[in-house]
Amino acid sequence: MKLNILKEEFCTALLSDYPAEEAHSFFFMLTQAYFKVSRLDLALNPNIEIDATEADKLEQAKLRLLQHEPIQHILGTTEFFSLNFQVSKDVLIPRPETEELVQWILDDVSANDSTIKLTELGTGSGCIAISLAKSLSGSKISAVDISEKALKIAKLNANKNEVFIDFSLQDILELEQLPENQDVIVSNPPYVRELEKKAMQRNVLDYEPEQALYVADHDPLIFYKQIANLAKKSLIPDGKLYFEINQYLAAETEKLLQDQGFTTELRKDIFGNYRMLKGIKQ
Ligand code: GLN
Repeated sequence: MKLNILKEEFCTALLSDYPAEEAHSFFFMLTQAYFKVSRLDLALNPNIEIDATEADKLEQAKLRLLQHEPIQHILGTTEFFSLNFQVSKDVLIPRPETEELVQWILDDVSANDSTIKLTELGTGSGCIAISLAKSLSGSKISAVDISEKALKIAKLNANKNEVFIDFSLQDILELEQLPENQDVIVSNPPYVRELEKKAMQRNVLDYEPEQALYVADHDPLIFYKQIANLAKKSLIPDGKLYFEINQYLAAETEKLLQDQGFTTELRKDIFGNYRMLKGIKQ
């Protein structure tokens, strides 16, 4: 079967649910992963053929995309900070905004000392801790998550990316203390309120882990309060706490840190939303 003809069929079918450019991107992400055929390869060799079994793999992927299953779940992997991560329904899919948080930490740390003590709370796929470990070799990095299934994936990702992270199974809200003398604490905790669900896309709502995403409307900063409290005791003087935050709660989240005695800085993400917050312990 000609891949070019299958491409037309695939993209036309997806047009009901996705913009044309996105459908094309999905197609080539799949052909790259399944057959090592890129957009350029097909442009240069328009006569590339695939067999019926291969065509069926594309067909199955198409059906899953029409159910709005994330492409990352179909592929089983995604890229974050130029590294490869395994993902599944048990972990939040790493987001580009979170890469900016990692970059912020690296910009601050590399300017001083690149071997540090760092703890991540709610690591999920491990993407933050692992990307940092990759750039800050020699650092002592620990990470916790409440989900055993998520930790399994995070450990796999640490191995795959050849870094060591001290992972442990913990509920952030039950933690009584963190390791002492930390230079940096980082967290991207659940922060989407129930009332914000209606604005969310099906690929997130139907397929990503609720435990990683949502907080109760009546106490949306519950994780931030707990983490700020723990961080205050565990950070060294001038140590830094980095958060990914809910854009609609930026002012409240910043105030919470200030009330705990941190000096703060807010930052916007690539989409122009207040998404990151740094607290410096005084
Ligand atoms: N930014 C994510 C989303 O909107 C939420 C991440 C989180 O809750 N920590 O899907």
